[in-house]
Amino acid sequence: METKLRIAVQSKGRLNEDTMGLLAEAGIKVSVSKRSLLAEARNFPVEVLFLRDDDIPRTVADGVADAGVVGQNELAEREAHAEVVRHLGFGACRLSLAVPKSENYTGLDWFEGRTIATSYPVILQKFLDEKGIHAAIHVITGSVEVSTGIGLADAIFDIVSSGSTLVSNNLREVEVVMKSDALLIAAPGLSEEKRAILDEILFRIEAVQSAADKKYVMMNAPRACLDAIIEVLPGIKSPTVMPLAQEDWCSIHTVLDESHFWHIIGKLKEAGAQGILVLPIEKMIL
Ligand code: ATP
Ligand code: MG
Repeated sequence: METKLRIAVQSKGRLNEDTMGLLAEAGIKVSVSKRSLLAEARNFPVEVLFLRDDDIPRTVADGVADAGVVGQNELAEREAHAEVVRHLGFGACRLSLAVPKSENYTGLDWFEGRTIATSYPVILQKFLDEKGIHAAIHVITGSVEVSTGIGLADAIFDIVSSGSTLVSNNLREVEVVMKSDALLIAAPGLSEEKRAILDEILFRIEAVQSAADKKYVMMNAPRACLDAIIEVLPGIKSPTVMPLAQEDWCSIHTVLDESHFWHIIGKLKEAGAQGILVLPIEKMIL
């Protein structure tokens, strides 16, 4: 029988769409019928096991799944021994302590003797131990942010991304305890065959990710401006320069980092570039 790599993916929730999207961009097509727990890829030796994110770290650590995609926060909370293969960049958030806005927060000592509500008791306890703070932890699995308002706790420890949930519950973020994004994790001791499948997936993911923040830029300019234009392009060994039908003009093609983009476009125009076209790049093999 053909060896398949079984990957655990959150069945629904915040990580499901990005994870399935990443697999799809890596050319791994999985037909998902809503009810099934296990789905096979049509064109790649992979099967996807759909689970609640709480169960993914243990399932991978135990080798029931060979790999998985899960939030770093969830992996830390479950204390599962899985190998972290790659940070995937999506699902970014942080785990923070927050106190009611009305409190006069002066520092970590504020938490001494207080009650903190959270769904992440393991991570919180470790942090409190490290800091030598004694506080009671009240474990609750949902709607942690309302805990202070209803008198269940003095403070909360929860996931924050934009911070708007905190604001609408009259809370103030006072300490960031950990930052998190989605991780690709693997079971310990994968067979050589499975490791080879995982490596192929990684290779494809990298091609997609290296392209993600890059743009393909084309422009026309008089040949006389070429040196000035090349000067502006950052860290590019040599852009492609092609002649145009109109003599003394050329077309310059290069790859630009999205973060530099607006800054450089202005300079390119000043240097004499015209008709600048910017195209997305789907995949990039370095
Ligand atoms: P499940 O039903 O699978 O147990 P869940 O309700 O525990 O799902 P989600 O809310 O779907 O979990 O979040 C999954 C992960 O997405 C979180 O553990 C975290 O790593 C990440 N995440 C990113 N941004 C946020 C956010 N704003 N709120 C919650 N989680 C976020
Ligand atoms: Mg969960």
